[in-house]
Amino acid sequence: MERTELHATNRWMVRYSYTCTCKPACYYEKDGRHTTTTYLNRGEQDQGTEAVARHLAEFHKQEGVEVEKVWRETDAERDARLAARRREQADAARGVWWGMGGAN
Ligand SMILES: [Zn+2]
Repeated sequence: MERTELHATNRWMVRYSYTCTCKPACYYEKDGRHTTTTYLNRGEQDQGTEAVARHLAEFHKQEGVEVEKVWRETDAERDARLAARRREQADAARGVWWGMGGAN
């Protein structure tokens, strides 16, 4: 990670839902949809909600993406994110691998 990123400004986030296409149907869906939160990159937030939904659908190969809200993380959220990353980097240095267990 670049050092400058440690002093990055607050990032943009998006909360959205998408169609559950799991076969068999998973335990995470609600009314046939998944809801998740992720970060936006490359300024998608400036291109409008529809563009954000399109980016998400293409990037994650998801269907029926519906953006719930887009917001900029608070200072507290930013600090928590940076603290979590410092922990992960410390763990990585010790050889611990953080798997994305259960994703999808
Ligand atoms: Zn599912």
